[in-house]
Amino acid sequence: MTISLQPERELQALTSVGNTPLLEIQGLALPQRVSRSRVLLKLESANPGGSIKDRTALSMVQMAEASGELLPGATIVESSSGNTGVGLALIGALTGHPVLIVTSQDISAEKLEALRRYGAEVIFADWEASADSAENPRAVAERMAARIPGAWRPKQFDNAANPDAHYRGTGPEIWRQTGGRLTHFVAAVGTGGTVSGTGAFLKEASSGTVRIIAADPEGSVYSGGEPGRISVDGVGNTWPKELWPSSFNPGVVDEFRRIGNGETYTVLHFLRNRQGLLLGPSSGLALAAARRVAAEAPDGSVIVAIAPDTGRNYLSKAFNPQWLAEQGIQIDPHLPSLPNPAT
Ligand code: PMP
Repeated sequence: MTISLQPERELQALTSVGNTPLLEIQGLALPQRVSRSRVLLKLESANPGGSIKDRTALSMVQMAEASGELLPGATIVESSSGNTGVGLALIGALTGHPVLIVTSQDISAEKLEALRRYGAEVIFADWEASADSAENPRAVAERMAARIPGAWRPKQFDNAANPDAHYRGTGPEIWRQTGGRLTHFVAAVGTGGTVSGTGAFLKEASSGTVRIIAADPEGSVYSGGEPGRISVDGVGNTWPKELWPSSFNPGVVDEFRRIGNGETYTVLHFLRNRQGLLLGPSSGLALAAARRVAAEAPDGSVIVAIAPDTGRNYLSKAFNPQWLAEQGIQIDPHLPSLPNPAT
């Protein structure tokens, strides 16, 4: 049976996408000068599938159903490092669409299990393969979709419904939750949907005063530099600029912050040890960037960073000493204090 996403018949799990909490983070070892700045994390792990990508998945499915691109019972075929896949699998399970996800061999065991438990079929592709290779995940997803009659490809990297989910949801929520008082917004960039959609809304709502910061991991080219190995799931890009996804609008970004893996994972472990928050590595990346921004921003700044998903997806990776050692990542047992910026 197919259940359409008409508002009056919307299913409970789908109405619970979005409206996530905003939590103030203290004890960030900031210089004295900025002690009156506030850093808040938007906890997207509160979404039913455990990540911010539930918003994207729901937005893409709703728009495709409305336009007639996605017909009742049709198969959804997407390449995803995991979270969009989980969001689509959850929505597919509730709405009668079979879901096939092309993912990376490096996917965490926990995300893989979640995909399968939601009923998705999973196949693997080479995440490192170049844009013109037949083995890269998007090429594999295209081939698979071509074999399945009526299959629909959400193409999150190329779908306006992705940034739109954040323009309509994440941005207005943050604006409301801060009473319009935020001064900076920080997000890590994968497809760029989050930073582009949320950033565009916040710029408009604040008449351009909110500063938008993109956090970028080691090995990613978004912040400049040579492509290399990326050890933060779901974010960064190693492809040349002409192949950056259309879901990312770099024009919205005022500043890119490149954060080393040691700092990202130290902040991630600080969140677990000192705040009781078990979050994914891209949350550590965004909070590490927010912390640096706070150290330089004027007193009284209100900095909101996105925490895209739960750390339960990464117990075998980010919270596993052996995996950290294999990646050459060293955690500093104390969150190192940041220097006072030159005044
Ligand atoms: N963090 C994680 C864990 C993700 O899976 C993603 C999405 N790939 C992001 C951050 C980045 O979000 P976006 O695609 O909206 O840039």
